[in-house]
Amino acid sequence: MNIAEIRIYSHELPVRNGPYRMASSQVWSLTTTLVELVADNGLSGWGETCPVGPTYAEAHTGGALAALIQMAPGLIGAALLPVPLHRRMDELLCGHNYARAAIDIAAHDLLGKHLGVSVSDLLGGALTDRVPSYYSIGICPPDEAARIAAEKQREGYPRLQLKLAGRPVDQDIEALRKVWQAVGSTGIGLAADGNRGWTTRDALRISRECPDIPFILEQPCDSIDDLRTIRSLCHHGIYMDENGTSLASAVIAAGSGLVDGFGMKVTRIGGLHPMRAFRDICAARNLPHTCDDAWGGDIIAAACTHVAATVPPRLLEGAWLAASYIDGNYDPVNGISIEGGHIARPRGPGLGVVPEPGIFGDPVAVFGKGA
Ligand SMILES: [Mg+2]
Repeated sequence: MNIAEIRIYSHELPVRNGPYRMASSQVWSLTTTLVELVADNGLSGWGETCPVGPTYAEAHTGGALAALIQMAPGLIGAALLPVPLHRRMDELLCGHNYARAAIDIAAHDLLGKHLGVSVSDLLGGALTDRVPSYYSIGICPPDEAARIAAEKQREGYPRLQLKLAGRPVDQDIEALRKVWQAVGSTGIGLAADGNRGWTTRDALRISRECPDIPFILEQPCDSIDDLRTIRSLCHHGIYMDENGTSLASAVIAAGSGLVDGFGMKVTRIGGLHPMRAFRDICAARNLPHTCDDAWGGDIIAAACTHVAATVPPRLLEGAWLAASYIDGNYDPVNGISIEGGHIARPRGPGLGVVPEPGIFGDPVAVFGKGA
């Protein structure tokens, strides 16, 4: 089975009750890029990539589209198996993992449909049909953060992430204290996500002034050197998120003891094939991690859920999805949603979600037999 045609689509995802606020930016609407791979046997599979604005990471919508258009002609005729497909992409473009991931996800969807198995089966097999999620509280006043935390804890979320940084650090400390007063007695997990926004000085201050609150410091500072600087001085475990830009950087961080776990994005690491290797490396090093993506609709959500379902439950910190911030689904029947803080693993072959025909309009580019 080989790639016969590639169709690329753009689609707008407005933020429900926007904006969504992080340390470095706020976003009102995200443009997602979808890839439909059509095989020479007529089956098709879907992939997606959706950076959360142009400043969260070294990725943006225009870059995804350009990278996909750069690779697409050379992918016509390629085998729809992960190892040769990634090798072909290596020969066509250096880097741009977040664009390659859309091809990788679509290939997994297609292969699953061809074999009549789910993507989680392709990744080694699911350990659960009910994947825990976590709720991300955007930057807001401390009392509002505490109110949302209590509400989401009652909904059933086993973990919360509090977005911080980009404002006076005293307000971050106050927010952490108020959130913990609201939910600390419930046993819920808590991550304090600085999104690279703190200086090492402020990250250390947060940790030293809140030694009684058992949160994880998620990507507190900008660089790997910053993480190394604060590592031995912190009271809290440190997770790497944005600095985990590839399987290689994750292996170095895991192997050197630089971090206690990861927030990992499927598209940042280049798709489900490298994510599978990342999962196994973390298991070998006993490191917890998430299986997320930065943003995106049903296709990304299904990909995250399938790989998360294959992670040893004691190491899974949850799958964050943008579903809470998006109205509607691509697949009106089997679209992904979060119920009681958990996500049902999609049924059906491949990703288990199929976009409603025509929902993305006309493709912005077509390569192969239909071009
Ligand atoms: Mg993060």
